Amino acid sequence: MIDDSFRIYVDQLRDGQVEELDEFFSPAFLDVDEKDLKFVDPVYIAGQAYLADDMLVLHLDIKTFACIPCRICNNAVKINIDLRGSYFAIPLNEIKTGIFDFREMLREAVLLEIPTLAECHQGNCPERQVMQNFFKKETVPGSHNGEDEGYRPFENLEFKD
Ligand SMILES: [Zn+2]
Repeated sequence: MIDDSFRIYVDQLRDGQVEELDEFFSPAFLDVDEKDLKFVDPVYIAGQAYLADDMLVLHLDIKTFACIPCRICNNAVKINIDLRGSYFAIPLNEIKTGIFDFREMLREAVLLEIPTLAECHQGNCPERQVMQNFFKKETVPGSHNGEDEGYRPFENLEFKD
């Protein structure tokens, strides 16, 4: 079976024809399944394909969600990927067959949008407070000197000539 849903037929765009694109793709084409990055939602695209001078132009909104772990609690966080009005221009002389498959282009555009860090609850991970308290306790001996004043190990030391 040939999946031609990613294909643009250049000849169909001659004489100013505009192809309307409005498609959902299974995230399988992204070919990503890592511990720290998964896609489970469809990739939605909407826009137009047309010819301008000697270029094929795709003007697209691209939407999907990436799942990456919260940097604090490690629960999966859905990151909204929402690329609006992206332009892609492909020189026609690079499309030898007259058929442009935009799968790889779309894949790269989506992958470029993934942040390296994510945090659940819009950046207010419930475990953040727990972590902060933990670090506060850890840093008490170094940053706080009020309680240590009674201890002066060298106070009674006598120096002899
Ligand atoms: Zn979290």
